[in-house]
Formats: sequence, structure tokens, C-alpha cells
Amino acid sequence: SINEISKGNMAVELDMHGYSELHKITDSFNQMIEVIQNQESSRQEFVSNVSHELKTPLASMKVLSDSLLSQEGMPEEIYREFLGDITTEIERMTQIINDLLSMVKLDQNTANIIISNISINDLIEQLLKRLRPIAGKRNIELIFESFRPVMADVDEVKLSMALNNLIENAIKYNYDDGWVKVTLNADHKFFYVTVQDSGVGIPEDSLDSVFERFFRVDKARSRATGGTGLGLAITRSVILLHRGSIKVYSKEKEGTTFTVRIPLNYIQ
Ligand code: ADP
Repeated sequence: SINEISKGNMAVELDMHGYSELHKITDSFNQMIEVIQNQESSRQEFVSNVSHELKTPLASMKVLSDSLLSQEGMPEEIYREFLGDITTEIERMTQIINDLLSMVKLDQNTANIIISNISINDLIEQLLKRLRPIAGKRNIELIFESFRPVMADVDEVKLSMALNNLIENAIKYNYDDGWVKVTLNADHKFFYVTVQDSGVGIPEDSLDSVFERFFRVDKARSRATGGTGLGLAITRSVILLHRGSIKVYSKEKEGTTFTVRIPLNYIQ
């Protein structure tokens, strides 16, 4: 009968409905498992990167101290030179550990963010004042262009660290006699900081990776300039903590521009 046919239809419909519900649940479980697996593998990669980064200075210290121990009657200058090299390696390890600690603190959510309404112009002026002697050594000009005075709710210490990393990089990865230009602007909602340099640039295929922990285009160059590969990861975390965003544009051998956008008012 018609009735039976429609009952049958309903059963089929119900079955299909139940099946697709089940399918949805399985799909979201699979997605969750994938997320956890990705997190686990990036955690493992992180631990192995940290270990590697710390092993490198340890290995050089071992070579240096072994040779100090094995050779008797070494001239004092050589002795001192080796000790100086060991100190350099210790400083490097300290830098890596400090960067790691900053990063761990930033990862512990927003609990320890200290917001105050400050002048971003002053903050940038202070950073540039501190970096000018370093840039001056390679005759790199630091320029600041502010389109308006900007007051914003920020964590002063953390934002200083974030912008400092960008300006320091713009100096580090620059040519002698080059320039770094910092601009500051704002609209009614956000302030914008750009850090532009006339430096070596970043290859296009590396642009997506520069914010990853320990990523460096040129490990040797980064190490020689005291880089840990953590600077931009820290900068990005700080900016995200302020609910902001950061972007990078670059052309090899011409230069790089980082643009930062942060809300003027911090909303919990
Ligand atoms: P590092 O401690 O090596 O400087 P960062 O996380 O600060 O680490 O930067 C990651 C990598 O991105 C650097 O090693 C460098 O290769 C590249 N990079 C960052 N900033 C610049 C820049 N302004 N110009 C060219 N390359 C840059």
C-alpha cells in the first residue's frame, strides 16, 4: 500500500540520516586526532631542535676544553684565547635559553600580560636610540617616520621586545651603508608599524617559514650575528597576544618589509 511504501521511505531516510550523522562524528574525531598528531609531531620537532641548538655550542666547548686539558705548557695567550671562545659559547647558550624562556612565558596564554596606555612614538624612539650605535658600526642609517602621535594599550616590555627583534633583524640582515626605515601610523581602530630595510631579503620559498621557531634562511650568517632563530617566533607571539597581525614582504638582494597591525584598545 501507499502507506507501507511511505513507511519504507521513511526508514530509508532515517537510516541515511543516522548514517550521515555517524559519518559527521567520525569525521570530526578524525580531525581531532589529526590535530593532536600534528601537535605531537611539532612538539617532538621542537624538542629535537632545542637539543640540536644546545648541542652545537656544547660540542665546541668540549673540543676547546679537551685541547686545554691535553696540552701541557701551552702559552698563556692561547690559553686565554680558548677560554674566551668558551665564554662566547656560554653566552650563546644563555641567549638560546633566555629566548626559550621568553617563548614559554608567551605561550602560557594572556595571564601575565601587563597593559598600559603608552606613547608608541616614545617606545620606538627609545628602541632606535639604543640600536643606533650598533647600526652606526656598519654605517646603517635608522630612520623614523611618524605620521601622528599614537597612544595605545600595550604590554610595553613585550611590545618593545617584539619591535626590537624586527629592527635588529633589519640591521643584521642588511648591507653596510644601508638603511632601515620604521614608520608609525594609526586610524581610529589600529596602529600600524612597518620596519623596512635595504638588506639581503628573504627568498620567496622561505617567506612562509620565517615565523617558525628555529627557522633561519642562512644558519651560518644567523649564528655569526648571534641569531637563535627564535626572534620572529617571539615577535609573532607577542603580536598575537595583542590581538594584532604581522605580515612580511621581501625581495632578495633588495630588502624586506615587516608590517604590524595592533588594536589601539586592548580588549580582554
Ligand atoms: P635569527 O635569530 O636567526 O635572526 P629570527 O627568528 O629573528 O631568527 O629570523 C629568522 C630568519 O629570518 C633569520 O635567520 C633570517 O634568515 C630571516 N630574516 C629575518 N628578518 C630578516 C630581514 N629583515 N631581512 C632578511 N632576512 C631576515
